[in-house]
Amino acid sequence: MRTKLFILSSLISFTFLAQAQEISNGVMKLDELRKPAYREIINIPEVNGYQVLKCDFHTHTVFSDGLVWPNIRAQEAWEEGLDAMALTEHIEYHPHKDYVEVNHNRSHELIENLSKRNNVLLIKGTEITRQTPPGHFNAIFIGDASSYIEDNVSEKDWEAVMKAAEQNAFIFWNHPGWKPNIEGSYEWLPFLEDLRKKNALHGIEVINGFGFHMKALDWCVDKGLTVMGTSDIHNLVGHDYDRSRKYVHRTMTLVMAKERTPESIREALDAGRTVAWASKYLAGKEENVKNLFNACVKLLPSHYSQEKNGVRTNFYEIQNKSDLYFELELTSGKGTQKITLYPMSSQLLSAEAGQQSLSYDVTNAYVRSDKFLNISFSL
Ligand SMILES: [Zn+2]
Ligand SMILES: [Zn+2]
Repeated sequence: MRTKLFILSSLISFTFLAQAQEISNGVMKLDELRKPAYREIINIPEVNGYQVLKCDFHTHTVFSDGLVWPNIRAQEAWEEGLDAMALTEHIEYHPHKDYVEVNHNRSHELIENLSKRNNVLLIKGTEITRQTPPGHFNAIFIGDASSYIEDNVSEKDWEAVMKAAEQNAFIFWNHPGWKPNIEGSYEWLPFLEDLRKKNALHGIEVINGFGFHMKALDWCVDKGLTVMGTSDIHNLVGHDYDRSRKYVHRTMTLVMAKERTPESIREALDAGRTVAWASKYLAGKEENVKNLFNACVKLLPSHYSQEKNGVRTNFYEIQNKSDLYFELELTSGKGTQKITLYPMSSQLLSAEAGQQSLSYDVTNAYVRSDKFLNISFSL
């Protein structure tokens, strides 16, 4: 005991000395109080050979109506483990113009090098901000944003979106349903159909920040448009999202890409291989959500069996090898009724012996506005 005390007191005095050495010219450095800088890793396994890239293609800075300088966006994206992001400043709306120069390319330019250094893919984008309806459109993979139209009169709506189409941008309709009191704000208007036919509309924001626009999921499925999820963040991500909860992340798009490159992201967006992810919630086309689920969740062979009152029950382990969150509810077969699969965890599942399979609704994963993903486990 005495030896231990001696070692302890030596350690304390050594630590004290080590700290004391940090004093320089009467200033003691208290760097141990700083928040450690590190990049989070969001675990999602490959899906049928595709990497699942975490992307947020709708964010703002003080160069439109956001509250932060562009560097903060780059820093947040790195810390949160995003693979790709875009700054999408409003073309037509600049509430800080008396203090911040109106330059549609500037915020992107300011973080190009920082993003490269941080290994975050920075995709150039903008928000075409027309009156509702039709409302706002994001254009990403754009060229020069200075040629876009600031004049916000409805006669120029078509021309405004066509500027992006001329640059071969990927264009998606933003937050449909965000102004429910305006007639036509949450309807599939001829204007949208005309854009789609002209190959000038490629996706819809099914989830924007804290709003899940459920009708938009059906439109994406029925009209062959890409499902998008974005934060549309204006404040600090840490201010708006409760990041202290394990499964809470900013809303984003999971993009199933061949490689971690802008070209591969573009190919995946054009092919519609995306799922919108808002912490607990997933929304996407059935094939994509199913493939994602199957890559993350595995049912292991039964490890135990017991008989009670003439009924044999088999026990299984069901594993979630991802940072996604799943809630399962039994829809056919005899087995565990409800299962919550927390990120990177497993649960026990029991099933009456002699059955071929069990089916579950994944009640946090939407494949239509009124339909959950349904999955079957072979027993
Ligand atoms: Zn908007
Ligand atoms: Zn926005």
